[in-house]
Amino acid sequence: MADITRRIQSEARRLLESGEVEAVIGFEKGSLPLRARPTFIRRPEDVETLVWNGFCENNLARYLLKVRDQRVGIVAKGCDTRAIVALMAERQVDRDRIFIIGVPCNGMVDSRQVAKAVPGEITEVEVKGQRIFARGKDFEMILPRRKYLHSSCQACEYPNPVIYDVLVAKPVESKGDLSILTDQFESLSHEERWTYFASESERCIRCYACREACPMCYCNECFVDHTMPRWSETGVTPSGLQFWHIVRAYHQTGRCVTCGACERACPMGIKLVYLMARLNEDVRELFEFETGLNPEAVPPLATFQSDKEREIATQIEAGAPKT
Ligand code: SF4
Ligand code: SF4
Ligand code: SF4
Repeated sequence: MADITRRIQSEARRLLESGEVEAVIGFEKGSLPLRARPTFIRRPEDVETLVWNGFCENNLARYLLKVRDQRVGIVAKGCDTRAIVALMAERQVDRDRIFIIGVPCNGMVDSRQVAKAVPGEITEVEVKGQRIFARGKDFEMILPRRKYLHSSCQACEYPNPVIYDVLVAKPVESKGDLSILTDQFESLSHEERWTYFASESERCIRCYACREACPMCYCNECFVDHTMPRWSETGVTPSGLQFWHIVRAYHQTGRCVTCGACERACPMGIKLVYLMARLNEDVRELFEFETGLNPEAVPPLATFQSDKEREIATQIEAGAPKT
């Protein structure tokens, strides 16, 4: 970890000193243990605030959308790079403007699970290799990292950057299996699935933190904020909440990179990724398409052609059979 941090800092310094980029997006230490937070470094003398540890969980590709007109460096793990590729495919990110400092990733630690596993408040924590060292006033515990990873990290099939300008560590072995996210849901009957979905979605307080954390949510106006026409009711009624979650999942179908940033941002601990992961699996099977691997490949559900729609509408108006 310390070596990776040093290499990130040295790349950031080089990029800023040479003027190759105006800013480097990375992580700095959070104000609490079990936290790292995104940061923009703009001066070479500030690069030492950059860190790399088991809590660098945000998907930093999200921030590229805030600096579309600047040349920036970005610290990116596997899922961040998949989001970058997906954003390139959707013409939201210009590859020439970004320098990718790729970091092979051993998975991010679920701080809520760690906090639950210890007998008091954690004052100090360190992730070294496959172990988490947690210390508090009256305790010291060592926890196995793999058991405390976020579920999206346990399922991750692409922990290594799929695109980069420099790689700051050796690639790691991928042990991911997407079915970790979907199997439990799929083993349920249709009625049980609905009950599960309804009980999860109905805990939602509509804070939209999941939307803000997601690199693939970038519309200037989200359907839930639309007033004319109003696509979705804004209250926290069960049907309104279910509608928000279903439409959100469909908007992410074949676009979600399964990074889990939405789930981690949710203050209610609502499970969100299983639904997108399931829909992504369908897209993989039906269209042989996987998000974030090829910047030239347009997501299947975005291959809609308005000319075709006009042709069909004209045929319908003319009384032709619908084909
Ligand atoms: S989803 Fe994969 S690349 Fe992303 S943080 Fe988890 S293990 Fe790392
Ligand atoms: S929907 Fe969630 S898991 Fe999918 S890309 Fe967005 S933040 Fe990541
Ligand atoms: S972050 Fe959680 S509570 Fe907030 S809108 Fe998303 S699902 Fe609902």
